Amino acid sequence: MAIGATMGTRKEKLAIHGGPKTVEQERKELFHWPIMTEEDERAVIAVLRAGKCSEIEINREFEKEWGAYLGTKYNLAHCNGTCSLLSAMYGVGVGRGDEVIGPSLVYWGGAMQAFVLGATPVFADIDPQTLCIDPNDIEKRITKRTKAIILVHQYGHPADMDAIMAIARRHGIKVIEDVSHAQGSLYKGRMCGTLGDVAGISMMGGKSFVAGEGGMLSTNDRMIYERAVALCHYERALTDITDPKLRAVVAADGFRSGLPLLGIKGRMNQTCSAFGRVQLKYFQSRIEEIQRAMNRFWDLLEGGGGTPGLRPHRPAKDSGSTMGGWYNPVGHYVPEELGGLPVGKFIEAVDAEGGRCGRGVNFPLHLHPVLNVGDAFGDGKPTRVAFTNRDVREGKGSLPASEALGERALGIPWFKHDWPEEIEKYAAAWKKVAEHFRTK
Ligand SMILES: *Cc1c(COP(=O)(O)O)cnc(C)c1O
Repeated sequence: MAIGATMGTRKEKLAIHGGPKTVEQERKELFHWPIMTEEDERAVIAVLRAGKCSEIEINREFEKEWGAYLGTKYNLAHCNGTCSLLSAMYGVGVGRGDEVIGPSLVYWGGAMQAFVLGATPVFADIDPQTLCIDPNDIEKRITKRTKAIILVHQYGHPADMDAIMAIARRHGIKVIEDVSHAQGSLYKGRMCGTLGDVAGISMMGGKSFVAGEGGMLSTNDRMIYERAVALCHYERALTDITDPKLRAVVAADGFRSGLPLLGIKGRMNQTCSAFGRVQLKYFQSRIEEIQRAMNRFWDLLEGGGGTPGLRPHRPAKDSGSTMGGWYNPVGHYVPEELGGLPVGKFIEAVDAEGGRCGRGVNFPLHLHPVLNVGDAFGDGKPTRVAFTNRDVREGKGSLPASEALGERALGIPWFKHDWPEEIEKYAAAWKKVAEHFRTK
């Protein structure tokens, strides 16, 4: 099988075969992120000059503003997204022997935090359209030990929250939203991060919302917030914990601050919260421009009867749902429509056109050795088995949609500006490859 030009014009000859490149020059600002101005720089320098990296008053301002944006009462800035997810898990009561269900096809910062609390991650498959955790598969994996579901709005696409919440309520299970890909995404008109019991949100340098290195826990449940404070925010235990039982332990009389329950420190560096506050001022208008740009790209590919082999990964236009900042955007790849062309060949050909195509999907965690043989505590058996006393390991073939996705999705250009002429060039590069390959 090979990619080849049709007999048509020179323009149709693929760059990979010596034809002209579709995108000859890339404009770097089209992809650069985050967008920073002197206002960001001044805010960060002010923290450094004042010697306030390790205090919390700017964090509190940032939390207030973030809560106003998202629509959550309690917001707790963390040193990174991973720690905010650990806090969220502790907040909803995950503990020793519990099981936490999450997607396999994702970064490890979510469900794997269960290990820190003596609990076990259990992986469920994804819905091949949304690429988010499949509610039906969640239900199959629930046992008496299941304490929480941790879902990801994958690549900005909202998960099927109505179905997930219905299952969770039916079984008395808590729901943690990992909003690390979906800051600003709407699910049927409501903000992702306000739909479950609590959200953990990465704000590290590569995400749609950037606060440097950082994370946020957001919830409307006071007790979840207080438990997160008790876990890893000693500096606000005396002021923020009202629950008498928690106060008696972590905010005991005679100490100047609290003593965190597991000794963990989760505070955000204030250069990050100061930066995050400035980023937040412009975030909504910036992601709206991203949404226009990304939708423009897909509308071009879907126009004129569509493009063989390619389908957008985005919610229906009239659904009230959005992709937020389109973090790490991907497209569905349908090799059957291209004579079975392997995704790797398609990527090479688009790249040769300057079209910015990549692999873009994660490795399924359930197949990784850490989740199968990893024995972190020397139990003489895998940690996943040691912590729950049953073999939860999924094995190859057990999560078919997650395992197949590497061949059925590809990374698309992540435009940060809606510049029609530029976007048209990228769409043309993709269309050219999809329409002018030939299999032998
Ligand atoms: C980035 C990310 C995390 C971890 O966040 P950090 O800020 O890097 O600690 C967790 N979950 C998902 C889905 C992520 O993409």
